[in-house]
Amino acid sequence: MMRLLAGAILWVLTFPVRAAEPVPDRLVALTFDDSVVSHATFVAPLLKKYGFGATFFITEGFEFTTDKQHYLTWEQIRELHAAGFEIGNHTRRHTAVPRQTPEQLLADVEHIERQCAAHGIPRPTSFCYPGYQTNAAAVKLLRERGYRFARAGGARAFDPAADEPLLMPQAFDGKPDSTMEQFKAAVAQARDGKVVVLTFHGIPDLKHPWVNTDPAKFERYLAHLKEQGCRVVAVRELARHLQPRSP
Ligand SMILES: [Zn+2]
Repeated sequence: MMRLLAGAILWVLTFPVRAAEPVPDRLVALTFDDSVVSHATFVAPLLKKYGFGATFFITEGFEFTTDKQHYLTWEQIRELHAAGFEIGNHTRRHTAVPRQTPEQLLADVEHIERQCAAHGIPRPTSFCYPGYQTNAAAVKLLRERGYRFARAGGARAFDPAADEPLLMPQAFDGKPDSTMEQFKAAVAQARDGKVVVLTFHGIPDLKHPWVNTDPAKFERYLAHLKEQGCRVVAVRELARHLQPRSP
């Protein structure tokens, strides 16, 4: 008996890992790409009203450094963090990762990490692929740097038990012609162990009209999530549903 107990204690000390928590139905992760100013001026206050979490994927690509009318300032990004939202890494230049050498990708990833550190924001653990293009070299680099999730494109729910979290698919990508029916169909996939990851850009997105979401339509989307009783979180909160990494 004592030997059995000693063995059990040794096991716990050697492998102090907990099992992945089961995924509840109606679990939704909300993500916003490209550092659009409406994330701070419109989206964040609205999400607060609903009690919803979200991840904002920050890039200094496009006209981020020169056009402060349409893009977030780092002070606004810091405020998003202070308000409880997750700040994720969407790279310095927003270059598709297959077009970069590992050194270029590393430099672009590190730049956003350094900017976060300079503004009192924790080092990101969630990443988003620019233009949704992925490759194995990026997955390796992100894993080595401690990233837990990297959102790609796609149109299906994420299964934490089966999918690679560094190639996490989105279930819905808000576009000007997206319909409420498409949104409802995407959200309905949040069951049987699967998480629905939703992608938006600016609301509105004046500089990238092809990914614009109308604010009134966005409010209808959020109302649907609330009606359905969804738990709406930042990507980082999905970590509890991953299998612990091998020791
Ligand atoms: Zn982007």
